[in-house]
Amino acid sequence: MAATEQQVNNLSRGALERLARDNLQPTPENYAVYFRYLSNDTPGLNAAFDAAVGAGAITQEQCTQIYAKFLSNNTSADFLQSASHAIDAELKKVLDLISVSAKDTHKFGADLDSFSGKLSGENSAEVLRDAIVKIAAETKHVTAQNQKLQIELETTTKQLGDMRADFDRVHKEAQIDGLTGVGNRKFFEREVAVKLAEATGENANLSLLMVDVDHFKKFNDTHGHLLGDQVLTLVAKTLVENLKGRDVIARFGGEEFVILLPQTRLQDAERVGNQLRSSLESKRIRKRGSQQDLGAVTVSIGAAQFTAGEDRDALIARADAALYKAKQTGRNCVVCLLAGETPPQH
Ligand code: GH3
Ligand code: MG
Ligand code: MG
Repeated sequence: MAATEQQVNNLSRGALERLARDNLQPTPENYAVYFRYLSNDTPGLNAAFDAAVGAGAITQEQCTQIYAKFLSNNTSADFLQSASHAIDAELKKVLDLISVSAKDTHKFGADLDSFSGKLSGENSAEVLRDAIVKIAAETKHVTAQNQKLQIELETTTKQLGDMRADFDRVHKEAQIDGLTGVGNRKFFEREVAVKLAEATGENANLSLLMVDVDHFKKFNDTHGHLLGDQVLTLVAKTLVENLKGRDVIARFGGEEFVILLPQTRLQDAERVGNQLRSSLESKRIRKRGSQQDLGAVTVSIGAAQFTAGEDRDALIARADAALYKAKQTGRNCVVCLLAGETPPQH
């Protein structure tokens, strides 16, 4: 069962607190180890953690080893984001501290007022001297307290700011495809939900393109996987170059890319698809070093427009069916499927 937001927040806070207790830096990697330990949901991790803790606290080296062994290939964007929320909660605590300090200063002001009240009457030298000593001591105390607090606050705020930036960076990286630099599947899942909700709420157009490299297996078999990887990077770069800022592109998997086109009708999506297709077709693939010309690669594209009320699966299935048709039609082309058109059987 998925953890509730409250449970995730508690785990986040717990992980950060325990990291501090164990004197480890709150890096995303360390945090991941602690979060997963407290979640107790990663096979083998807890046993390794407990063994490392042994008699004393876990060392940075041990923590790094546990991360490499159990988590380096499994950075989930979700729980990293939860860490950002936990950091926000810590920042709020700091702000609360500032308001407590402000109250203290206020109280000091009130004390001073009462002293001055005492001083205004008939006072013996003795009473006067006592009052001045008290004021001096109190002033010294409040000033020292304020200075200490100020330094603590500055340090903590800076640390939290650094942490926040660190987590945001890793969170972003967890949504980027390592090879091509465009969004990964996780990123797409998030974006498609957002864009569908926007299109529904604003009653706006939204189209989706499914892009698949033609005969890519053959290319790999002929020229090798490394060159194949280079081609995927070129395809992604060409797609990005031809899209607008509001469009969303992600690697759907393997040699397939998916593109969301907000505020775009099907016939305009088809035009964009053809632009992408012809832009790629015009580029020559050259071998690194020898510069040997290996020809061009092409893509087939399936296009579908979102219909109010349908879910993501229906939209993706229609674009997928259109892509299938494009492959059948001879590849290097764009095929559109209207809602309600029967997709061809795979
Ligand atoms: P079609 O025109 O029908 O799409 O044919 P295809 O050969 O492109 O399709 P198929 O699904 O048969 O093969 C896809 C190939 O993509 C097989 C796989 O080796 C290759 N591939 C998937 N991911 C990667 C990758 O990250 N790098 C490289 N080099 N190849 C990949
Ligand atoms: Mg494919
Ligand atoms: Mg293919």
